[in-house]
Amino acid sequence: MADTLAPGELRRFLLEGHPLRGHWVRLGSAWQELRARRSYPPVVESLLGEAASAVVLLAATLKFAGTLTMQFAGSGRVRLLVAQCSDDFRLRAVAHHDLADGEPASFEELVGSGNLVVSVQSDASAANYQGIVPLEGSTLAECLERYFEGSEQLPTRLKLVADRERAGGMLLQRLPGHGGAAGGESAGALLQSTWEDLQQGLRSLAPEVLLAAPATALVQQVAGEHDCRLFGATPVSFACRCSDERVAGLVRALGIDEARAALADQGALTITCEFCGRDYAYDAVDVEQLFASEALPRAERGPLN
Ligand SMILES: [Zn+2]
Repeated sequence: MADTLAPGELRRFLLEGHPLRGHWVRLGSAWQELRARRSYPPVVESLLGEAASAVVLLAATLKFAGTLTMQFAGSGRVRLLVAQCSDDFRLRAVAHHDLADGEPASFEELVGSGNLVVSVQSDASAANYQGIVPLEGSTLAECLERYFEGSEQLPTRLKLVADRERAGGMLLQRLPGHGGAAGGESAGALLQSTWEDLQQGLRSLAPEVLLAAPATALVQQVAGEHDCRLFGATPVSFACRCSDERVAGLVRALGIDEARAALADQGALTITCEFCGRDYAYDAVDVEQLFASEALPRAERGPLN
């Protein structure tokens, strides 16, 4: 089916006459590419798939130019999870964990206690943004609902799911205001009952249906009898942002002594991108050149810097 083969797709929908909106995402080959870069135990893999879907949904709801990062570093078995999505929906994600393959673990055991951090690195300027919420909840979706409630003040419901083939999710959001032309109490009551119907519709979606059914059918099931407008698909792909320049920056950050020590130990300094598995290798000449080219601008700034 075309759905399975597509790298990934994102679609937005609106409830007519109400300040209620939703986003749906499904990752196909983008998810398969992402998880093929490293081997994860099934419980970590499905958390990573949910996180990859979630970061796309977050990127869809927030207006930004640059890269959005969702990460948590807690006391659990997954020490670190990072998922990133650019404003044009290029996605990457990685997790560090200490689980054996096939070892079971609950969500709470995986994440432990810590914070979920959502940040935006802007392309343009210093217009960066960060939101932090404690990792509380029994699923990643619940943690993110709390994130939206706390950081964005937007009532939000989320369902996330992943298997080996696909990952995906749906997000519902209630925006401020009553919407429509009518005001007053009856409009408020109508909005509230529509919002409750939507949430009930989302709860009714079985995980295997959310992973496989066409977006039109899913949105129809969630919206029920309410008029709903589903917008066209935006492609989502797996892509890494690593580059020679970025990795050179990492080597500089190590410092020349540590870089030389690594060279002496191993004959070469190799840095592997965690997200895509690409190797960046530096021999002794590369390392010396890297630090020599850094020395010039520093010297120009004068001794006080
Ligand atoms: Zn990379």
